[in-house]
Amino acid sequence: MADLSKARILAVANQKGGVGKTTTAINLGTALAAIGEKVLIVDLDPQGNASTGLGIDRKARKRSTYDVLVGEARFRQVILPTAVPGLDIAPSTMDLLGVEVEIASDKQRAYRLRDALSQLQQDGDDPYSYVLVDCPPSFNILTINSLAAAQAILVPLQCEFFALEGLSQLLRTVDQVRATLNPALTIQGVVLTMFDARNNLSGQVVADVRQFMGDKVFDTIIPRNVRVSEAPSHGKPVLLYDLNCSGSQAYLKLASEIIQRERALKAA
Ligand code: ADP
Ligand code: MG
Repeated sequence: MADLSKARILAVANQKGGVGKTTTAINLGTALAAIGEKVLIVDLDPQGNASTGLGIDRKARKRSTYDVLVGEARFRQVILPTAVPGLDIAPSTMDLLGVEVEIASDKQRAYRLRDALSQLQQDGDDPYSYVLVDCPPSFNILTINSLAAAQAILVPLQCEFFALEGLSQLLRTVDQVRATLNPALTIQGVVLTMFDARNNLSGQVVADVRQFMGDKVFDTIIPRNVRVSEAPSHGKPVLLYDLNCSGSQAYLKLASEIIQRERALKAA
């Protein structure tokens, strides 16, 4: 029988910056926690926006995902609670910029995150049901570690003109990772973000992406909503900042859609 206690590890990835990766990691994580899942966000971006957006002060980041990747700490020494019950974070610092060089000579360097997460599973007495890895906007060793550790990739895609082009490039990379590092990697889904109903182009992009990716695209579309962009400066997920806004409601819907998909996968 499958081990159902094992965490579902999702890489939130897209090589483009500013498409909603961090926003999705924070707010999907919060929404999953709100409906009873136990969630860990792993901040793998040197910018540390997920950490800041969840109210983790830079001074509080004594240890970070950098220490985990270079083998100087275990996850359990790095993970911090957030203001959201059931949501923890492994914060990042700028030190992450140095990881590539520091682990360059290790032949197994792509598996640092995978191994550290399985160590966490062994250490943990309260296992996570979801681990969301917030990736940087590039294909460096950090993203590669994330794709090697994940069971599936969750792709935020901004509703804009070049969306499909970027997506094709991403799919090629996923194929490469499957062929080399992680044969089991699947595409969990594509989530369309920053949809603007007043912009005709947004609607066209949605239609094109659905045609190209079929049912991999989530039914839920995240609208462009100013409350979503304000929340991080208050160190809060939008669900804590303004539960009733359209952005919060969309992320709650996305969370329940993901849980339904996961149930269908387990039942299959
Ligand atoms: P990435 O992590 O892919 O670089 P972010 O999640 O940081 O992207 O989002 C980029 C910018 O867009 C941020 O300023 C964020 O607050 C804003 N943003 C993201 N999603 C939304 C949304 N649904 N509505 C309004 N602003 C958004
Ligand atoms: Mg980001």
